[in-house]
Amino acid sequence: MPRPLRVAVVGSGPSGIYATDALVGQDAIPVQVDVIDRLPVPFGLVRYGVAPDHLSIRSVRDTLDKVLDKPGVRFLGNVNVGSDVSMADLHDCYDAVIFTYGASRDRRLGIPGEELAGSVAATDLVAWYCGHPDADRALFESLLPTATGVVVIGIGNVAVDVTRVLAKTVGELDHTDMPQYVFDTLARSQITDIHVLGRRGPAQAAFTTKELRELGELADADVIVRAADLELDAGSAELAASDRAVGRNVEVMREWSRREPAGKGRRIHLHFFARPHELVGGEHVERVVVERTRLTEEGSAVGTGEFFEIPANVVVRSVGYRGTALDEVPFDEARNVIPHVDGRVQSGGASVPGEYVAGWIKRGPTGIIGTNKKDAVATVGSLLADAADGSLPKPARAGGIDDLLAERGIQVVSTAGWRSIDAAERALGATRGRDRTTIHDTSDLLAASNPG
Ligand code: NAP
Repeated sequence: MPRPLRVAVVGSGPSGIYATDALVGQDAIPVQVDVIDRLPVPFGLVRYGVAPDHLSIRSVRDTLDKVLDKPGVRFLGNVNVGSDVSMADLHDCYDAVIFTYGASRDRRLGIPGEELAGSVAATDLVAWYCGHPDADRALFESLLPTATGVVVIGIGNVAVDVTRVLAKTVGELDHTDMPQYVFDTLARSQITDIHVLGRRGPAQAAFTTKELRELGELADADVIVRAADLELDAGSAELAASDRAVGRNVEVMREWSRREPAGKGRRIHLHFFARPHELVGGEHVERVVVERTRLTEEGSAVGTGEFFEIPANVVVRSVGYRGTALDEVPFDEARNVIPHVDGRVQSGGASVPGEYVAGWIKRGPTGIIGTNKKDAVATVGSLLADAADGSLPKPARAGGIDDLLAERGIQVVSTAGWRSIDAAERALGATRGRDRTTIHDTSDLLAASNPG
């Protein structure tokens, strides 16, 4: 009997796990999959990106987790492709590699003052409140308790997430798995005003209605939106009429614009046709200069030359995620993705034998979690077709990757190790009446993975 095909999946977020599921869920070609992650824990942005208070979206974890238990699947956490193992090592050990490591960095605004203290990327703030091991705790724990005014730049779902988390009372977050230091920091928050800036209009907003609505349902925050910002030009009115999601967003905000603020402790101000021009301050950001915009016929924003200012101690840049290159792997610097045709990685106009890509690092940071399933299945289809016609390169090492990792002294977290971390997080949560509390520190995660 021929040996099973050996595939390495690099990145254990939704696209990696969906690709794994598609590989072991077919029976034409027997496959063994190693899901490799640089972190000791799986699930990528489902663990470190989905807002902690979005419990139903976070519960996708349970579905993903079941895949790790399927025959032929192993989790290899705490293994960094690039430093612990090279691409040459992966090609030596596997018939094929699928890159599913996502897009974890922030996009830049390119405006003066962006580098001032107090100007932070939403990706970093989200990583902090989700308990990511690489988060800069000292930064957020000094920044947030002293801030009163926050400007959030961008009107996508991530902007809505950070606005909601900062605007909620600690009581509203108490059921979440955020690390205790996040609760303690947010409990000291003195934030009174959060200004959310959209450079285009309400009909062009990237957030979804369900997420938007939640802003209007908070215990101690009023939402303020100017009726004038909700007047639609002909193109936007057409969009609101033809696209139900857009129409619903506008409807929700119109209702808010008619509300009398209830005098709650915090205010969320939604601004449209408002693009950041400059962040101003000494060492630390003090205010944001904003230029009013109008829409062109094509629906993009152009400046009107009219400016206003918003005081802010913290500016959260939430203008999208960005993929980064992996050593020795082709990368499209303009689009921040790995170039591909049908999921086959491309270099110099040809497919790189045995290399595939799926998820955000394939198509950019868009779509909901489920979008990655279809995407991963399509990539796996290409891989299996190449396996069937014999065009995959043959791996040189018979022993696979285990010997190599052992030789290099890498403390690999297996599926069993992850189960131990999972149990430790549930036990930690139970001490405070919560389902789970995220363990954030790498050495604590490694210790929990090996409790013996
Ligand atoms: P996004 O949806 O792409 O939104 C980015 C926002 O930043 C847009 O409003 C964009 O405005 C704005 N922007 C970009 N460049 C700008 C600039 N230079 N100046 C001012 N504004 C700028 O990105 P995201 O919010 O990071 O979300 C990423 C993906 O994750 C999305 O697909 C999102 O739906 C998904 N997600 C989903 C959930 C959920 O389902 N609950 C939660 C979080 C994230 P323009 O439109 O004018 O470019």
